[in-house]
Amino acid sequence: MRLIHFSYLILIVFLSSFVPSFGQEQINNLPVAFSGSIAGDTASTRFFIDFDQNLSFKTTYMDKPNRIIIDLDESVFNLGQENKLEPRGLISAVQYGRISQGRSRIVLTLSAPVEIIKSSLKKRLDEESYRFLLDMDSTDEATFENLLREQKIRSQSSSNLAVKGDRVAPVQKKDGRFTIVIDPGHGGIDGGAVGKNGAQEKDIVFEFSKVVREKLQDIGPFDVLMTREEDKFMSLRDRLEFSRRSKADLFVSIHADSLRQRFVRGSTIYTLSKKASDQLSAKLAETENSADLVGGLAVEEEVEAVADILVDLTTSETKRFSRRFSSLLVKNLGSEIKLIKNPQRSAAFGVLKAPEVPSVLIELGYLSNVEDERLLQSPEFKAKAGQAIANSVLDFFRPRMR
Ligand SMILES: [Zn+2]
Repeated sequence: MRLIHFSYLILIVFLSSFVPSFGQEQINNLPVAFSGSIAGDTASTRFFIDFDQNLSFKTTYMDKPNRIIIDLDESVFNLGQENKLEPRGLISAVQYGRISQGRSRIVLTLSAPVEIIKSSLKKRLDEESYRFLLDMDSTDEATFENLLREQKIRSQSSSNLAVKGDRVAPVQKKDGRFTIVIDPGHGGIDGGAVGKNGAQEKDIVFEFSKVVREKLQDIGPFDVLMTREEDKFMSLRDRLEFSRRSKADLFVSIHADSLRQRFVRGSTIYTLSKKASDQLSAKLAETENSADLVGGLAVEEEVEAVADILVDLTTSETKRFSRRFSSLLVKNLGSEIKLIKNPQRSAAFGVLKAPEVPSVLIELGYLSNVEDERLLQSPEFKAKAGQAIANSVLDFFRPRMR
């Protein structure tokens, strides 16, 4: 035994002398994508990309707009000028990059619904490189929807482990119905703003959200979900995830924050933008985005990174829908309650970053204003504003109803 131990020791000392250079190499040794191409037509398209070493991948279908997402081990994309992945056939756009520590992603935006016929990552004949290959055929919308549904069922069973907390199970969408997610801001240890007379934002928005839910259920074919059903803390990430997993058709976050300018009162409708429409909106987004810190969580960098790349990919369609809904809110709310000057604003709110869900954030009023604090708790206000929001949702979906 003693002898064996000793020889091990020598071996370890021997090996360890190589460690510095070996370790360095490991760090710099990410897979490099050095070449790739897209071929085919609108019936059948092939996408491939070559790496200098093996790596793992996973493909996912995504809709709104139709896309194929390829998740990879973190890689370096070193595709020279001549190796540009020129979109063609069923692929209308290609984007790629690192999305977080250890992970990279390729996003193929599709010009039509497709079905993946083959996906593989194999050593090439030259024995020195690996080719990721994806073959897709054009298909109809119904088949694509089926593929999404199957994928959702599969991921539900596998992601249950990864999902922490008590999130709701994804909802099966019924024909002709729309899923609306209402997000009462703050909750639990994160009380949000506090009024001069002690009203807490988390309570006000929760009570109001319940009124909106009722009005919505009365008015149309809406399945209404709330991100929280009680007074509990939820991170922004959880809220976003909830919205996406519920396959929400619309996401409405409700707040009643506080401003330094105590004279400001009335409702404001916010949509997402990279750059704030004005100083006040920028400040507010900053406060809202720090909600996770209040809850004792570090700002989740990964989510930020993912969200950022996705915001870039957010279709003009989602943005347009969000803007349109926000216009309807301004019109309907404006005839019932007081709005602030320039009520349609935008800023980089983290909670609005689901790329495929039209999302708005409503500041019902400002708890820094005593009048607003009183008003937001009155049953008349809640009924009027709640009804105006429900009417706006109905107006929003009317073109898609039969
Ligand atoms: Zn708030």
